[in-house]
Amino acid sequence: TLQGSSYGKEEKILVLVRLRPLSEKEIARAEVVDWECINSTTVLYRNSLQERSGLPTAYSFDRVFRGDCATREVYDEGTKDIALSVVGGINSTIFAYGQTSSGKTYTMNGVTEYAVADIYDYIKRHEERAFVLKFSAIEIYNEVVRDLLSSDNMPLRLMDDPERGTIIEKLTEETLRDQNHLRELISICEAQRQVGETSLNETSSRSHQILRLTIESSAKEFLGKDKSTTLAASVNFVDLAGSERASQALSAGQRLKEGCHINRSLLTLSTVIRKLSKGRNGHVNYRDSKLTRILQPALGGNARTAIICTLSPSRSHVEQSRNTLLFACCAK
Ligand code: ADP
Ligand code: MG
Repeated sequence: TLQGSSYGKEEKILVLVRLRPLSEKEIARAEVVDWECINSTTVLYRNSLQERSGLPTAYSFDRVFRGDCATREVYDEGTKDIALSVVGGINSTIFAYGQTSSGKTYTMNGVTEYAVADIYDYIKRHEERAFVLKFSAIEIYNEVVRDLLSSDNMPLRLMDDPERGTIIEKLTEETLRDQNHLRELISICEAQRQVGETSLNETSSRSHQILRLTIESSAKEFLGKDKSTTLAASVNFVDLAGSERASQALSAGQRLKEGCHINRSLLTLSTVIRKLSKGRNGHVNYRDSKLTRILQPALGGNARTAIICTLSPSRSHVEQSRNTLLFACCAK
């Protein structure tokens, strides 16, 4: 058994695996399901040929979710605490990692919706504090950063600010009025991403999307006084590019080059995650990609991170599913 589970000791990365159900098309093609969650932490590969080959057949993580689990369960048991740490001033990131069509967008959409509802609920129950919520959204495609809340589609530059770290120049940041306002903004982002899709040929499988919610709060009784201390933190919801790009590149042993189809951000993320999970104090190469540069304050250090690895259950996707699980194991 490969061990991928040790959250709650000192590790900062929570690794979850979610199988999706077979789609109607897959059922119509009589696809075979090779994966089974044998308990809440272990997923088993049940193909007898594979068992004889000596490769691991059982993989353990912090939590695994069967194909018939609702996103609500994934959120409640996996990511709720991490998302809500933002109201206490702790940065966090929730990723969806997996091959195209494994359920990343489906999962992240639900998780984001539930997290936002919980954050607003928390605000309602804490009238003693004043909260300001801000929202921004970007897409990273071929190492080019674009603003999903702006229609001009111009590439955005990353700048180093001595106090705030990496900032994205000219990024739209909307101050939220309420939860409906946020829903409107998220649907603008979805529309923007689809516009790109027709012109750039299945962009969403090649691009990363980061939705960022920043929350500032201060005690009302101290407002405007010197004593006032403001808590500020961000939660990032990250729908990653299809992991098939990274694993193809890795298995071909190719070198990382600018401009080729390999996804630099995805590969750098793997390296960064691997380093962080080992918990050593050595150099972490955040600066090697746009994705990791942008997410640096919300990865490692005090930040809290969850990775939801999504898996297709069908035999015809077994190579990609195995690659996803190997990535998931490295994250621990
Ligand atoms: P990805 O973003 O990884 O490419 P999607 O989230 O678009 O994949 O999912 C592919 C298809 O499978 C979509 O039609 C989606 O609605 C469906 N799907 C994904 N996960 C689930 C799930 N857990 N339960 C039901 N349907 C799912
Ligand atoms: Mg998607």
